[in-house]
Amino acid sequence: MKHAVILAGIVLAGCASTPSLTQGLLIEDVTIISPDRDAPLEGADVAIQDGRIVAIANNIAASPDVQRIDGRGRYLIPGLIDSHVHVGSVVALDDDAIDADPELLAAYRAQTPRAYLAFGFTSLVDLDLRPQTQAWFEETPDHPRLFHCGRALRIPGGYGAQRVAPETAAARFPNLIYEPSRAAQWPNTLQPGDHTPESAVARVADAGGVCVKTFIESGFGMFDWPTPLPETLAAIRTAATERDLTFVVHANSVESWRAALAARPDVIAHGLWHWPGPRMNAEPPAEARAVIAEVAAAGIHVQPTLQVLRNDAAVLDWSILDDPRMAFALPNSVLAYARSDQAQALRRATAEEYEAGARALGVDSGATALIENANDRVRATFRLLLEADAPLLFGSDTPSGEGIGNPPGLNGRLELQQWADAGAPLDLILRAATIDNARAFGLSDELGSVEVGKRADLLLLAANPLASIEAYDAIDIVFVDGQPIEREALRPAN
Ligand SMILES: [Zn+2]
Repeated sequence: MKHAVILAGIVLAGCASTPSLTQGLLIEDVTIISPDRDAPLEGADVAIQDGRIVAIANNIAASPDVQRIDGRGRYLIPGLIDSHVHVGSVVALDDDAIDADPELLAAYRAQTPRAYLAFGFTSLVDLDLRPQTQAWFEETPDHPRLFHCGRALRIPGGYGAQRVAPETAAARFPNLIYEPSRAAQWPNTLQPGDHTPESAVARVADAGGVCVKTFIESGFGMFDWPTPLPETLAAIRTAATERDLTFVVHANSVESWRAALAARPDVIAHGLWHWPGPRMNAEPPAEARAVIAEVAAAGIHVQPTLQVLRNDAAVLDWSILDDPRMAFALPNSVLAYARSDQAQALRRATAEEYEAGARALGVDSGATALIENANDRVRATFRLLLEADAPLLFGSDTPSGEGIGNPPGLNGRLELQQWADAGAPLDLILRAATIDNARAFGLSDELGSVEVGKRADLLLLAANPLASIEAYDAIDIVFVDGQPIEREALRPAN
């Protein structure tokens, strides 16, 4: 198959062995950095045709019709994959602001897909996607590939479905799961037979999902929500395997990681930062170390999601608005709203709720100290995961909630930074954000490396990403399906 693709685009020129490209795009004299290679390949020509890489060689001849891009002094890497996003969740805008000015939401949505591209993310996996969200996202002229887990699987009263009104249950929770031993909570408007794990997983597959997601979340140490029963998780596991879908479980506490271990998901969708014992202690206890070792030994992938806590932090400290890279993430109108008195007043009100919450938990040093302690925890367990050689996947959980701390695209860039700052090797970071994500979600035939036959989703960088993490700020050109887009052209229309 790959061979046929090569022959379609490349003919041998006479009897010489120099390949020749007659149409398409040629990136010349570039250094290729790709996770399938042990070392960078310098001085390479990369031929692209019909959206695919058709040849990689030291010297590819090309006819005059071929578009040429000078790669000298630059680095060609695979487009990045962020395997944990929620593209329909809105950053920096609240319902009142949107009601008052619907143009704000329109401007936000027009930029969101472009923002991901501007930071190098050519593929995304949305872990809980509504069909209407997929529609507006994919209608944007320049957008990343959007893979998804369909609508996530939830149980009544559990995380994300704490309140299920019978009259809206069908629309809001299409993949609500019925558990016979908890029938008392079941909304009488839904037929239990339509809500078995098997039928929900079938709906995800029919919607074009590549994965299935559910939640083991008892309430962040503050609430006491039900979590799916072991037999429910086991049934989802079986159904996902039968349909060749990647099984993703939200879990961030020792208790939930243990439950996940028993359920054998393919991916745990968060790092570890909740454990029993004193709240203001960032030293992972023995039980945290033990579960990390077990997850690593079981080969279960983990998305550390270090930026999740920065979204909480931004409620109390909104200096992220001063990051010049925000200009790629959000349009001017949305940034102006985020800086307005109205938005600041809302954040102050939320900050007061956070302070009250910290006091209720007995943390006298305040909400900032509590959040920073959680930050220290997730970084400490991330380092343990690195030491244990756990299979890590790059996923930013953009955005992890309302607020301004996880802006589209930029949040992925900040997550890359967090990995590097915590000591992850730069080659591991690149792998986790490319081929490892592609393999974990069944996409590696097409994506994840710079190889002949694969889709030409690529980044041309002015700096070496194996030398410094700041190279990801030096993206010159983003290629999606072989189409080059200058990064500067991805600024908001404003
Ligand atoms: Zn998430």
